[in-house]
Order: sequence, then structure tokens, then C-alpha cells
Amino acid sequence: MSLTLPTYPQPDGRGRFGRFGGRYVPETLIPALDELERAYAAAKVDPEYLNELDRLLRDFVGRPSGLYLAERLTAHAGGAKIYLKREDQNYTGAHKINNCLAQALLAKRMGKQRVVAETGAGQHGVASATAAALLGLDCVVYMGAEDIRRQELNVFRMKLLGAEVREVTSGTSTLKDATNEAIRDWVTNVRDTFYILGSVVGPHPYPAMVRDFQSVIGEEVKVQHQALEGRPVPDAIVACVGGGSNAIGIFAPFAYLPDGERPRLIGTEAAGEGVDSGRHAASVAGGRVGVLHGAMMYLLNDDEGQIVPPHSISAGLDYPGIGPEHCLYSETGVAEYVPVTDAQAMDALQLCTRLEGIIPALETAHALHHAVELARTMRPDQTIVVNLSGRGDKDVAEVMRLLSLPAAQSSAPGTLHARPEVQA
Ligand SMILES: *Cc1c(COP(=O)(O)O)cnc(C)c1O
Repeated sequence: MSLTLPTYPQPDGRGRFGRFGGRYVPETLIPALDELERAYAAAKVDPEYLNELDRLLRDFVGRPSGLYLAERLTAHAGGAKIYLKREDQNYTGAHKINNCLAQALLAKRMGKQRVVAETGAGQHGVASATAAALLGLDCVVYMGAEDIRRQELNVFRMKLLGAEVREVTSGTSTLKDATNEAIRDWVTNVRDTFYILGSVVGPHPYPAMVRDFQSVIGEEVKVQHQALEGRPVPDAIVACVGGGSNAIGIFAPFAYLPDGERPRLIGTEAAGEGVDSGRHAASVAGGRVGVLHGAMMYLLNDDEGQIVPPHSISAGLDYPGIGPEHCLYSETGVAEYVPVTDAQAMDALQLCTRLEGIIPALETAHALHHAVELARTMRPDQTIVVNLSGRGDKDVAEVMRLLSLPAAQSSAPGTLHARPEVQA
């Protein structure tokens, strides 16, 4: 790893990617965002900060993560070679730790002794609490009452790591409400508090900063693909999209290549029970432009501008918006965004598990489904890299519950198979 963070194109002076992003926040938040922007600009060229981040990513997280040829999945699809970028190998089991460590380290550099974070299923909360414990920072995690009830184990994990978990009962008592509370806490306590945001969303500079921190994924792919295939750029890259951080982390290092040299970049959105069912989290396919958590983006809202509660089988994709840089990629055709349903993800999870011995997260399974479909349409000398954003240990109980439901009672009638059809 190098001693500089890569420099991809920055958003414009108002923090916007095209017409997306920006800072749609109350006046009181602007000084805090300005302070953060200055601190990040200084840190990303400071060898001391970069050395420490480099050391932690290597020795604490275990980077670089592998780029692994999935031979049986490739044979099953019968087309392009499918490679898995193994973010599931990271300590804490997913890509989120890359960003949390970098932000916590920045908090420390800024002299802030306290960090706050929002969490839905608890994955970002656990990663934030982990980074805070490691660096000796006080940590408060905001979590919706509904999510606290559903994610008992992660709540306990955060407490074990020394974090305080604060219950949020406003709105629908879920992730978007927890995010509002975390922002409120930050504004109130900005002198000693840093807000660790979990994806490429929120007001500028968060989307660009989180992208830079996650881009270690795609930068590693270049080196690894060169070693394995004799060229740095694969033919296609597929990643699942919640807020969009694992996807932007693997896309950004390739997105700014000139037309013709750029691989196909494909984000898979959670289509839940189908984009037409109204029960989904597909912000590009089924949303419209609006403002959420301080940024302009595609999101799920109704005619009054109210957020429609998203639905997905995977808690990590259950966010009603998609990061502004993805919105720009979509509008300009740099990347494509395709919907994948709950049932398709369930099948892909089982397929990957049985053929590769790797239990992926339900989020990741959305990307795997599309990668297999895509591979079929490509030649054997071509390559697809799937971002294996996380491991599925956290989802095993839920998968067990879903597979034991009679098909008629399941969330997607008749479409969940106890065994996928496996030919390989
Ligand atoms: C949180 C999570 C996601 C979704 O978040 P992004 O910001 O879109 O990457 C995807 N996969 C896993 C394993 C996650 O934990």
C-alpha cells in the first residue's frame, strides 16, 4: 500500500457530483462540516496519518484481502471467469471496518475524544465501536428501537466493546431516524465529538471522503488482477448497493478511466419483493430525486416528499437512498444499476455456499446473483470481479428461518428453494 490516498475527481465547490450531493443542512452544521473538510484535506497528505492507517489496515484488519478465482461458480455459469474480492476476510467480517478505522483515526488527529455513529442492523455500529475501542475513544451509537429489538446480538457486541447504544423512538424507529439523531448529537457536541458516517451518503465531504477510504478495495484489485490475468482492468465489476460504499470503493479506481478502457460497472440494488410491489429498496429503479440526510440523491419518497420505508431481505441494503456519486454514474452511464429480488439473493447465497464453501452476506448475495447471470453472456477469456462485501455468519439465523417457512408463507411466495439447482 502506498503513502498517499488516491485522488479521484472531487465534487464541485458546493460539494456536488453533477446535480447530486451538496450540503442541504441547517446553518448550524456548516462550521462542523467545514472543520471536517479542512481536517481531512490535511490528513490525506500527512505521512504520519497515512502510515498509521496503512499499519492498521494491514496488521489489524488483515489487508490486502484476497482476489479469489471462484472456479466452481465459473463452471456453473459457463462463461466469463468470476473472481471474488474477499472483503469478508477482513477482521469484523466486511468492508465497513476500512472506513471506520480511517474516520476514527481522523477523529483522534482532530483531538476529538468522542465519536457518534448511526446503525441499522448494527454492522456499522459494531465496526465503529471496534475502531473506538482500539483507539481509546468514547463511542455512542444511535439505533432505532425496532432495530435494537431485531439485532440483540449486535447490541450486546457494541456494549461489550465499551460503546453506549442509544435507543431512537422517533419516526419509524429505524436507520433513517437513528441517522437524524446522530447528526443532532454531533451538532450539539461538535467541540469534542466526531460523527463516523457509515456509507457514501450525507452532506459533503462525507461521500467523497468515505469513497477515498473504501477505494483501497479497487486499488488492490488493479494490482491483483494484473498478477493473475496480466492486465490491471477486469471486463466487469459487480457490487451490491445500499448507501453505496463497498460499490464505490471498488468502482472509483476504474470509473474515471476513459471510455473504452473502463470495465462495465454494475451495482445491484435490493428489489425486495419486486420493484413494482412497492416493497423494495431500489432507489435508482424505483425512486426519484430528493434530499435526504443533507444530500440530493435518488431516494424512495412519496408525492408529499415523505420517505417510503424501504424493504429488503438484507438489513444492510435497507437504506431509502443511494450515494450522490452513484447517482451521477447512473445519469452519465458510467455505471449501471440493476434490481435483484430477495428470492434471487437467497438462491445466490445458497449457490455460492454450496459451490465455493463461502457463506456470503445476504447483501453480497444480490451481487452474486447478477454476476452469475452476466457471466453466462460473456466469453471464457473475460473476467468479472464481484465485491464480496461481507461474510454471512450474521445472516445464518435469518436464512434458517426463511428456508423453514412453507413457500406459501414466505415473503416471496413460491420462489425460495430449499436447494438451488446446482449442476457443477
Ligand atoms: C452495510 C453492508 C452493505 C451495504 O452498505 P454499502 O454502503 O452500500 O456498501 C453491503 N454489504 C455488507 C456485507 C454490509 O455489511
